[in-house]
Amino acid sequence: MILPRLFLFISLFSLALSNEQSNSHILPRPLILETTHLRELDNEVKLQCTSWRFAVEANNLNPWKQIPLECAEYVEDYMLGRGYKLDLERVSNEAGVYAKSVELSGDGKDVWVFDVDETLLSHLPYYADHGYGLEIFDPVEFDKWVGKALAPPLEPSLKLYNEIMGMGFQVFLLTGRSEKQRNVTEENLINAGFQNWDKLILRGSEDHEKLATVYKSDKRDEMVKEGYKIIGNSGDQWSDLLGSSMSNRSFKLPNPMYFIP
Ligand SMILES: [Mg+2]
Repeated sequence: MILPRLFLFISLFSLALSNEQSNSHILPRPLILETTHLRELDNEVKLQCTSWRFAVEANNLNPWKQIPLECAEYVEDYMLGRGYKLDLERVSNEAGVYAKSVELSGDGKDVWVFDVDETLLSHLPYYADHGYGLEIFDPVEFDKWVGKALAPPLEPSLKLYNEIMGMGFQVFLLTGRSEKQRNVTEENLINAGFQNWDKLILRGSEDHEKLATVYKSDKRDEMVKEGYKIIGNSGDQWSDLLGSSMSNRSFKLPNPMYFIP
């Protein structure tokens, strides 16, 4: 039994060798099989990472600290490719459709709340140097970047922002940034094309220990107490949107890079 098998093996090997010599531009079969196998693995990783991203955006994965190592390339491709842009455009378009459908009271009390980071301003230039969420968040390094006031706008959000302004909403910016970063935040917003907001609310000393959900809920509670009606709210974190005094409609922007509780 061994001899015929050995003969078959030698024949196949010689055949492969002669084929390879005569058709050196054609890849030998085992390599083709390997490529197909790699492609299947690649598809499996893409499926797993798409599923992970869905769980992130739907807030089913809560909390999470870092993107999974095997999804590093997937998240980078998503953030730099058409997927992120399309998702941002869809959120802003739908928010705009809703905003237009609302009959405003005209008493100056109809509010649209916007978060700032990854909602109006993009930190992609920073995260490009920090693995798109693969690295553990470094607040010191991030604050250095924020201090430069160079974050570009998320274009679909800028478009929505201007539409919302034009409709007569009160525009309140509610950010987890510290009150100490007020000047640099204003400078960056103006550099990026955002103007004429009605309030810019930052974390005061009494807010620093609060989770974002609690801090933002407290601030919305204050708005409601002052007689404002929160018609819409745009944010890239569920902690921008959930809690007390929630808006009539919330619009969640995509962000698979980090999670803020
Ligand atoms: Mg944000």
